[in-house]
Amino acid sequence: MSIDVQPGIMDIALYQGGASTLPGRSEVLKLSSNENPLGPPPSARAAAAAAIATMHRYPSTDHAALRAAIGEVHGLDPDRIICGVGSDELFIFLCQAYVGPGLEVIHTEHGFALHKTSALAAGATPVEAPERARTVDVDAILGKVTERTRMVFIANPGNPTGTRLPDAELARLAAALPDNCLLVLDGAYTEYAEGYDGGAALVDRHPNVVMTRTFSKIYGLGAMRVGWGYAAREVIDVLNRVRGPFNLSGPALAAAEAAMRDREWVETCRAENARMRAWLADALAALGLPSDPSHANYIMPRFESAEVAAACEAHLREEGILVRRIVGYGFPDALRITVGTEDDCARVVAAIKTFREGRR
Ligand SMILES: *Cc1c(COP(=O)(O)O)cnc(C)c1O
Repeated sequence: MSIDVQPGIMDIALYQGGASTLPGRSEVLKLSSNENPLGPPPSARAAAAAAIATMHRYPSTDHAALRAAIGEVHGLDPDRIICGVGSDELFIFLCQAYVGPGLEVIHTEHGFALHKTSALAAGATPVEAPERARTVDVDAILGKVTERTRMVFIANPGNPTGTRLPDAELARLAAALPDNCLLVLDGAYTEYAEGYDGGAALVDRHPNVVMTRTFSKIYGLGAMRVGWGYAAREVIDVLNRVRGPFNLSGPALAAAEAAMRDREWVETCRAENARMRAWLADALAALGLPSDPSHANYIMPRFESAEVAAACEAHLREEGILVRRIVGYGFPDALRITVGTEDDCARVVAAIKTFREGRR
């Protein structure tokens, strides 16, 4: 093939999603993609179904109704909100608009794959900052900043670690970064982290801080592909110039707006996740599998070795349970398990117990 591809593109590793099916099995328990086991609120299903009636019409281009709902619920200025096809699309917009060849984007050692992918897609150079004890390390990030650095990505809580950077550390990072460098706070799991605002207050204090959020996790709308970002007016104006005018479909917008306004559902899901997350972590610790306290909807138990982790994952697959191997995130000896319903959690623990007993 003599058609040249732009620099960086062929360095992108194709995204490996959590498996959702097993050959020869009609029923699987999927605990591999951090989805809400309770799904979206019924109000969101109803809103999406109603929006199907007008699918011959183009959707809203300014997403005003959804931005108003987000603004009301979170106490934010809707004019400083942008909506994307998942938060993934916002990472692409950010990199497309602010970085390129010769410029550097810092991501963390165990950070989300799409941070690096978005930098490469824009022709920029991704730079990895080490983490400390499976947690984002502010000094390590600051140590990687050069005059070419234009962006820093952090997932908080982290995925797959579930660990959280204290608010004071986030504030220290935001204050220490140069003014010409954007700090992108990926808050996909914010709702699960007790007392965390996703970085919204930091955005208000620093014009170079951006917060991204998603409807894919606690709102149970992964298939609808809706995310949003909050930033300084100037940044939102820039991002809207690269955004496609009809990036979000009508049913997706309707579902997200209904879900955002359904606070009771979100609170139920948050409380239920916290309860089952604690139970799951304790049950696995009792089986000799420690994990860091998680602030998200998954936990990351650590095994004796990569070989044992792989064998456990294979055993679970045989039992019809899908969890995530996270070798590519730097954890060959761990698995990431999404917190499911009470029944789901009991089932995965029982299967891991059988696995551990079988190996004695
Ligand atoms: C799931 C996830 C997202 C959300 O991606 P969407 O495109 O909004 O579905 C973003 N960041 C992290 C770290 C995630 O785990």
